[in-house]
Amino acid sequence: MRIERILANNPGPFTGPGTNTWLVEDAGECVVIDPGPVDDLHRGRILEQTVGRAPLGVLVTHTHSDHAPLANPLAQELSVPAYGYAPGPDFDPDLRLGEGAIVDIGQTRLDVIHTPGHADDHLCFRLADVLFTGDHIMGGSSVMVEDMGSYLASLEKLRGTGLRRLNPGHGDEMDHPDEVIDWYLAHRRQRHEEILEAIRAGAGSADEIVEVVYQDVDRALHPLAARSVEAHLVLLFEEGRIASSRHELVALPAKPT
Ligand SMILES: [Zn+2]
Repeated sequence: MRIERILANNPGPFTGPGTNTWLVEDAGECVVIDPGPVDDLHRGRILEQTVGRAPLGVLVTHTHSDHAPLANPLAQELSVPAYGYAPGPDFDPDLRLGEGAIVDIGQTRLDVIHTPGHADDHLCFRLADVLFTGDHIMGGSSVMVEDMGSYLASLEKLRGTGLRRLNPGHGDEMDHPDEVIDWYLAHRRQRHEEILEAIRAGAGSADEIVEVVYQDVDRALHPLAARSVEAHLVLLFEEGRIASSRHELVALPAKPT
């Protein structure tokens, strides 16, 4: 079994060093995970890696523009199916994968795990004790979250499952997955409390909260941070900890326990 990383040439504030495309090979068969944006040079490098191997499919973890747009054209060129959870803006799966699906590669297999949160259509792929995490967990940074309740549940789901390595969609491979997952859970819980604190201190909108809570984060990332804040707000509403009054957010007194 071999795992190879091919870095796409799309570095930036949202993508870190760029998107990691993963090639997984066993017994001469291979799949490509997250081919990335449409880019001829990157496409050429992926194709080079498949020479002498029998490609079986092109998989995407989710349909964001830095992961999926090359999937359909590449799959066509390789005469294999494109696999994903659901269609997206620049992606239309030939075969849909959901929780519990299996993709056989040579003598080994990928197990599909649905991990909504960063995006509703997000999948992780497990190969023995290695997990391809897409943007659910990234190397070296926190993640923009669309649905906080789902995101936290999708992290919990992976904890204590015997993983030994995380291969993310951006950044380097990570060992000690449970420690990494614990850091992500703690980070989100801390942000959750900081956001509630900011509302108590008078912040009345997501943008105002970002100014207070994300002071130490690059301003280029503030629009993404605002989306994560919105996701925290939805969860705070659901938890009955905040309300909205005349379009201003207000913290509610803690319920007696
Ligand atoms: Zn990404």
